[in-house]
Amino acid sequence: MERYREFPQIPERLSGLVDLAYNLWWSWHPEARLLFKQLSTALWKECVHNPVRLLRHLSPEVFEAAAADPAYLHRYDVIMHRFRRYMTEKNGWFQEVYGCGPALRIAYFSAEYGLHHSLPFYAGGLGFLAGDHLKECSDLHVPLVAVGFMYSEGYLHQHLLPDGWQENIVERLDREAAPITRVTGPGGEPLVIRMPLVDSTIALYVWRVDVGRVPLFLLDTDHPENPPEYRMISSRLYSGDRELRLRQEIVLGIGGRRMLAELGIEFAAVHLNEGHPAFVLLSLLHERMQAGRSFEEAINDVRGISIFTTHTPVPAGFDVFPEELIARSLGQYRDELGVSPEQFLALGRHPEAPEQGFNMAMLALRLCGHANAVSKRHGEVSRALFHSLWPDRPVPEVPISSITNGVHLPTWLNPRIAALYDRYFFETSPNWQEEHDVEAIWAFVESIPDRELWEIHVSLKNKLLNRIREMRRRAYAAGTLAPASLVAQGGLLNPSVLTIGFARRFSTYKRADLIFSDPERLRRILTNPLRPVQLLFAGKAHPADEEGKRLLQRIYQFAGRPEFEGRIAFMEDYGEQTAQYLVHGVDVWLNNPCPPLEASGTSGMKAAMNGVVNCSILDGWWLEGFDGENGWAFGQDAPEGDRTAHDANALYSLIENEIAPRYYDTGLDGIPHAWVRMMKASIRTCAPRFSARRMVKEYVERYYPQLLSCAGSDFRVCPVDGSGDR
Ligand SMILES: *Cc1c(COP(=O)(O)O)cnc(C)c1O
Repeated sequence: MERYREFPQIPERLSGLVDLAYNLWWSWHPEARLLFKQLSTALWKECVHNPVRLLRHLSPEVFEAAAADPAYLHRYDVIMHRFRRYMTEKNGWFQEVYGCGPALRIAYFSAEYGLHHSLPFYAGGLGFLAGDHLKECSDLHVPLVAVGFMYSEGYLHQHLLPDGWQENIVERLDREAAPITRVTGPGGEPLVIRMPLVDSTIALYVWRVDVGRVPLFLLDTDHPENPPEYRMISSRLYSGDRELRLRQEIVLGIGGRRMLAELGIEFAAVHLNEGHPAFVLLSLLHERMQAGRSFEEAINDVRGISIFTTHTPVPAGFDVFPEELIARSLGQYRDELGVSPEQFLALGRHPEAPEQGFNMAMLALRLCGHANAVSKRHGEVSRALFHSLWPDRPVPEVPISSITNGVHLPTWLNPRIAALYDRYFFETSPNWQEEHDVEAIWAFVESIPDRELWEIHVSLKNKLLNRIREMRRRAYAAGTLAPASLVAQGGLLNPSVLTIGFARRFSTYKRADLIFSDPERLRRILTNPLRPVQLLFAGKAHPADEEGKRLLQRIYQFAGRPEFEGRIAFMEDYGEQTAQYLVHGVDVWLNNPCPPLEASGTSGMKAAMNGVVNCSILDGWWLEGFDGENGWAFGQDAPEGDRTAHDANALYSLIENEIAPRYYDTGLDGIPHAWVRMMKASIRTCAPRFSARRMVKEYVERYYPQLLSCAGSDFRVCPVDGSGDR
C-alpha cells in the first residue's frame, strides 16, 4: 500500500500492478509480463522490459483507459489472483515432504545473481545459477533468504569497434526505477548497517528484491558517510584490484551476516555459492566463540550448519589473497576472535602451496561440513584437486560430492514452446508444469506433430534474426555502426540456413576460436552451395582480460572476410535478454571448452528444453546428458597435450557428415523429420533432468533438512511468507 502511494497516476482498481512490478514473479510468468506490455508496447521496449520504469513513465490516461477496458480488467484479475495465491499459499512441495515448524531458513550467499536483464547483478553462469536457484526455491516453498551485492555499475555493455575491439560502456543502475526496494528502519528512514572495515567503519544501505517468495537482500556501500574508496566497493562485480576485491568479500560475508542479524532474520544454516562469500563463516565462528566455545568446538559447530558449492575445476579460479593483505585487513577481526595469526592464516592455506596466500576455497572447505561440485565429472576433478586437504583418504573418498546444475524451466522455456507443450501434455499430465522434473511425463513430446514443433522453431529463428537486423538498423541509423561492420554483425544472415550458435563468456578455455583452426575447411563448410551453414557468436570478454578481447577480435575479423560470404556473425552485448533469443532461436548450440575445464555449463540446458540441439564436447553436464540420440558429442579420444587440431577435425567432420545432411534432409513437405526427431529426443531427455527443480530437490534432499535439523533439536520447518519479515 505504501509503495502504491508513490504512483498516484495509477487508479485504485489497478493498484495491484505496483505489487506485481516489485516482485520478480513476473519475470517467469509471461502472462504477467504481457499485462505490462499491453499498457504500451513501445514504452515496454524502451524501458527494456522493466515494469517499475514502465509504471513510472506511463501517463495517467493510459491507466484510465486500461481501467475502463473490460478485457484488460479481466486479464488483470486473473493474473492478480494467481499472483496473490502464489504469495499466500502456506504449503508447497517442501512442507508436504518435510512438514513445517519454527521459521528457520537457509541463508544463501552469492557474489552475483542473474535474475532478469533489468537487474545488472551478474557476470555470467555463476550468477544465473544463483538466480535460478532462488526462483526454484520460491516455486518449491523452500525456506531460503539470499544475500548479495547491489552493483550500481553492474551494466557493462559491450560495444565493438569496427576492428572488433571490445569497448565497455558503463550504465549506472537507476535505483528508483528498478524492481528493488530500499529497506527502511523503524521510523521509515533508510536502514544503515555499520561494520568495522580495516581501521575504520563502513556504512551500508540495504535493498530488497522479491523473487517470488524468496527475499534477496543486497548490500550497497554507496553511502555518503563513506570515503570514496569505500563507496565504490559494491559498484562493480569482481574487481581485478586485489585489495578492493578482498574488501568486497569481507563486506559480503561479514557484512551480510550482520545485516541478517539487524533485520532480525534467523537462519539455521548457510549455503555458499562459490568461495567469494566465505568470510561469513568467520562471523559464525566468532559468534560461537563469543558464546564460550573454543576455537576447535566453534569450527565443529560451523561445519554442522554449512554447505559450500564449488564451481570451478581450475586452481586459478579461486580467489587467493596475499597473507600480508589478509593480516592488514582482518587483523582486528582476528584479534577479536582471539586466535593467533598463525592459526588464522592456516584456515586459508593450501596444503600444497601455502606460499600462495589465503585461499577462499580452502577456507570454505575447512569450515563447511558439506561440499559439492556441480556435475559428476566436476566432482571427480574437485576430489583430485582438493585431495591434499584429506591426505589420508584415497581420492574417491574425498568428501566432495556433486549435484549437477539445472536451469529454471519457466524462465528459459520460450512461451510459445510452453504453449505447445501445454496443448500436447494436456491429455496425459495437465499439471506438467508442476512436475516437470519427472522424466516419464516427457514421453508426450513424441505425440507433437513434427510440423507444429518445426514451425514454432522456424518462427523463433526468424525472431532472432529479425532482432539482429533491427538492432543493426538502429545502430546504423544512429551512426554507431560503420557500414563495413554490417556484415560482421549479421547483416547477411539467412533464416533458411542451418545456424550454429556459440554464446558464452570469452574465457580462453572455452575456445571460441576452435572452429577457425582450419579456416579453409571452415570456408568450404559454410559456403557449401547445397548445404550452407552459418555461425552466430555472442559473448563478452572480462574488461581486464586482454587475451579474451584479442580472441573476440580475431573472430570478429573472420566474420567480416568476404570469403566467408557473410555466413559468420557476431551479436553484441551478450546478456540475459540476448541469451533468451539465442537459446530459443538457433538450430544447434555449440560448446567446445577444453576438457575438463567446463565444470558444468548451463546454456546448453536452456537450449535443449527449447528443441535446440546440442553439439558439444564431452565435458561438464553433457557427459551426463548425451545419450547418442539427443544431439552430438565429440572430442572423446583426443590425444594428451594439445588437442586443438583433433577436436577441430572432429567438429568439422560432424558438421559435414551428420549435422548438415540431417538438417537439409527434408521431405516433400519441407520438414526435416530426422532433425525434428532429434529435437524431440533432446527435449524429452534434457528438460526434466537438467531443470533447477531436479537440482533444488537434490540440495534439499541431501543437505537442507539435515542442516535445518542440526540447528534446532526438533526439526520442524515453517513456511515463510515472502513479505512478512520486513
Ligand atoms: C546461461 C547463461 C550463462 C552461462 O552459460 P554457460 O553455458 O555456463 O557458459 C552465461 N551468460 C548468460 C547471459 C546466460 O544466460
